[in-house]
Amino acid sequence: MSTITPVVEQQVLERVPKQLYIGGRWREGSKGTFGVEDPATGEVLCEVADASAEDARAALDAAVAAQREWAAHPPRERGEILRRAFEAVIAQADELALLMTLEMGKPLQESRAEVAYGAEFLRWFSEQSVRIDGRYAVAPSGQGRLLTMKQPVGPCLLITPWNFPLAMGTRKIGPAIAAGCTMVVKPAQQTPLSMLMLARILEQAGLPGGVLNLVTATSASETMSPLIADPRLRKLSFTGSTAVGRRLMEQASGNLLRLSMELGGNAPFIVFEDADLDEAIKGAMVAKMRNIGEACTAANRFHVAGPVAEEFAERLAQRMGALRLGRGTEEGVEVGPLIDDQQRRKVSELVSDALERGARALVGGRERDGAGYFYEPTVLADIAEDARLLREEIFGPVAPVRAFASEEEAIAAANNTEYGLVAYVYTRDLKRALRVVEALETGMVGLNQGMVSNPAAPFGGIKQSGFGREGGPEGIEEYLETKYVAVNL
Ligand code: NAP
Repeated sequence: MSTITPVVEQQVLERVPKQLYIGGRWREGSKGTFGVEDPATGEVLCEVADASAEDARAALDAAVAAQREWAAHPPRERGEILRRAFEAVIAQADELALLMTLEMGKPLQESRAEVAYGAEFLRWFSEQSVRIDGRYAVAPSGQGRLLTMKQPVGPCLLITPWNFPLAMGTRKIGPAIAAGCTMVVKPAQQTPLSMLMLARILEQAGLPGGVLNLVTATSASETMSPLIADPRLRKLSFTGSTAVGRRLMEQASGNLLRLSMELGGNAPFIVFEDADLDEAIKGAMVAKMRNIGEACTAANRFHVAGPVAEEFAERLAQRMGALRLGRGTEEGVEVGPLIDDQQRRKVSELVSDALERGARALVGGRERDGAGYFYEPTVLADIAEDARLLREEIFGPVAPVRAFASEEEAIAAANNTEYGLVAYVYTRDLKRALRVVEALETGMVGLNQGMVSNPAAPFGGIKQSGFGREGGPEGIEEYLETKYVAVNL
């Protein structure tokens, strides 16, 4: 897809199914429709079905009805369906990327990267479906045998956020399909289009009706709460904010649901004096600016060794200031809009708070006038210890830089947060690297690299960033139960 004209955009939007997908059929939402907005212009792109609580219940009914048969479906065939879906996503990558840019705002090259990343979960789990196994052991006493087997958890509810509209879905849908679970999927209301296209692709790849049911809705709590309270549901996998995650966990306690919680982050990016500064700047740009800073893995604060802190901040400011803002469909654009006005207001507020407490803006620090929710790439120096953006998830293109005096101070500052998703460490000293990595309270660490996401690796956090792992050999375990059989011999 070379030139993106309004006609091309319209054609891509027209090809998206806009109804609910329940029990293998596309149907209207009982509450009519709602508009999906282009964050670069504030205009409505198209309307999609708005589900009621009854529609959501019908989706769970369909998932429950399909569960037994799907669990018995040959693993190889489950894998082949995922493999065909992977190939179809790759074949339609340009179209899916454009759709993602339209609904979420990120530049086209980043959307292409997410489509490739999201597709890889389908491929990875297509390979995992035939590697589900158990164990056979002689009991320590020698009397009897211990047999363990893995079985699908059962019907799952998968709730995803707007920041990675496709990949946050495939990271859950891939292992659920591979494990033999049926599911109800609810994408974020800002970005339902990528997931609707994925449902169509899975349908065309031969996924039996009822295995995946898709519900788009304006009221998440009205549609989801009854499902979470329904004893037929066996698992909830949620990616989103810590605040909503906490609420869902409370609701899930009624049925003691199996849970996977991929929640917010507040990633520290630590640069030691001995680091390769060129590499650190390169990594910082990725860790900060991927997804316009709207990533759970985004570097939220930069802790830099005193002797190199100023140089680091200045070089980062130079790079950030040179980035081109604009609608993600435009050639050469590197930074798109934030998702909505509320998100932009939050970023503005955090920057104002830091400036009021004495920070200096080396570049940016402003919203951009005109249509869309643009915020200028920003680097702040001289951050006060009590500035809110050191504690809160910024979710925007803002990089606060703070100097540290010792390794102990850097580690203490990095861990001084309720979150524990990811940290980044730059140093050329192997012993220091391992010491620091071991001391960091996070589920993941990028060592001399600014990105950790990889479908073959276990993605997830600790502390209030949640629990459970997506991707890697661990990813499918979230959708399996272990049954132990005591064998009398
Ligand atoms: P959010 O507000 O928590 O929403 C996430 C999803 O939950 C959306 O589909 C939302 O639906 C739904 N939801 C909201 N309230 C609900 C309720 N009461 N019951 C059931 N569902 C409900 O998060 P977001 O703003 O979309 O996403 C940004 C957050 O996600 C950030 O904190 C980010 O760090 C986190 N995130 C974490 C990871 C990770 O892997 N750890 C990855 C990506 C993002 P509506 O759209 O209808 O509100």
